[in-house]
Amino acid sequence: MNPIAFDNSYARLPERFYARQAPEPVAAPGPIRVNEELATALGIDLDWLKSAAGTEAVAGNATPPGADPIATVYAGHQFGGFNPQLGDGRAVLLGEIIARDGHRFDLQLKGSGPTPWSRGGDGRSPLGPVLREYLLSETMYRLGVPTTRALAAVTTGDVVARERFLPGAVLARVASSHIRIGTFQYYAARKDVEALQLLADHVIERHYPDARAGENPVLALLEGVVSRQASLIAQWQLLGFIHGVMNTDNMLICGETIDYGPCAFMDAFNPDQVYSSIDHGGRYAYRSQPGIAHWNLSCLAQALLPILDDDPERAVALAQKAIDAFPGQFLDANAQGMARKLGLEAIGEQDAALVEDLWQLMAEHGLDFTLAFRRLADLVHERDEPSLNVSALFEFPDALQPWLERWRARLDQDAQPAAARQALMDRANPVFIPRNHLVEEAIAAATDEKDLGVFHRLMEVLASPHAYRPDLAVFATPPQPEQVVRQTFCGT
Ligand code: AMP
Ligand code: MG
Repeated sequence: MNPIAFDNSYARLPERFYARQAPEPVAAPGPIRVNEELATALGIDLDWLKSAAGTEAVAGNATPPGADPIATVYAGHQFGGFNPQLGDGRAVLLGEIIARDGHRFDLQLKGSGPTPWSRGGDGRSPLGPVLREYLLSETMYRLGVPTTRALAAVTTGDVVARERFLPGAVLARVASSHIRIGTFQYYAARKDVEALQLLADHVIERHYPDARAGENPVLALLEGVVSRQASLIAQWQLLGFIHGVMNTDNMLICGETIDYGPCAFMDAFNPDQVYSSIDHGGRYAYRSQPGIAHWNLSCLAQALLPILDDDPERAVALAQKAIDAFPGQFLDANAQGMARKLGLEAIGEQDAALVEDLWQLMAEHGLDFTLAFRRLADLVHERDEPSLNVSALFEFPDALQPWLERWRARLDQDAQPAAARQALMDRANPVFIPRNHLVEEAIAAATDEKDLGVFHRLMEVLASPHAYRPDLAVFATPPQPEQVVRQTFCGT
């Protein structure tokens, strides 16, 4: 039996969807980490993946039987400007796997060498961005946020030239699919209506099977993407996650978070926060994310126009109506999540000021995003074990007392027992997030000292982001002023 049971549906699409492209071998593959739980869920032979043969396969030195490696083509709006010709420039899709639960997943190698779409780049990835993506994407998964995942990572034994020479690495990434808004834009820009329809059929089959039965499957597909993205972006906002490069080639049709390049979780709350070193205008600041997602979805709607309806005017009307649903859906998802974070059964119009005032105060006092919400969970009920409070790490300033009084009065209007409320709040308010300074520390140890221990330790802490342990306090502590990371960088 093959170690991975591939079934490659995208590679069966016409040849203008991709280029056949094997990964480029590397000098000396070495293991970094294997995601045993994910490998098992995918029915991958775990012993093989952990063996030297598995490491060789992830590094791209040996193509596992049944794989049909391709680099896919797409387009995209990058920082608002349309680029009609992009594609996997440093990644290959090895193939697809049907998981034990019946779902189909892409298995992609990122950092696997040049492709026809490398645009002069080396097709490689330094170790740092691979570790960052591993940490961030797996934590997002633990936090219940739809996301691409990390199956395994390896070092290459080669150096990668960036601002300095860095060790190279490859990430084996898993996604429901890597089909992007930009994939549709590519064919729309070429007026290739046949390809648009083929792609829509493929995506409906794979991600929106319920759309098939309806009167207008393409419209149902668009509505489905709008609603998944509304829910996704709400989850980002509720965790203080800043994506950093919300270009249309970095938004997936399946609704999973992708591209953990210059992203970060916020420490002190600042709605204007930007981390990406290339985002000079603040286009992708925290507060702008919902609006940008809405804009990106309008790009998708635009691309779908030729297959939405034969009558162009009717197509525009249908598209408009579908994307107009985004703000309301986002606000609903956001309000439901905020209710969970604040310990309320629901948030109604009468609560708008309470919520708005909290954000205002958090910004004004630069409160730590994660610990402020977690501290609220402490306050609703005396914990059996007082050391499980985060009070040693965070206390609300006096200026918040009047707000806390209002919040307590509002809690009294709900019937929920305090212990149950606290348990729900703990689930909505993680205590461990991959703070930027911790991620950078793990990357520096791996890059400069060849020490992967810091990375592995952080992975273990982040595996249970909601369960506080006082012995792990250092991982929940905001950065000291000298530890604050002000910028994160694309992995390019
Ligand atoms: P990203 O900013 O990661 O979304 O990448 C944008 C585009 O640039 C994608 O098409 C990537 O495949 C491509 N790209 C990024 N880094 C490299 C690289 N080192 N070599 C070749 N292509 C790259
Ligand atoms: Mg990308």
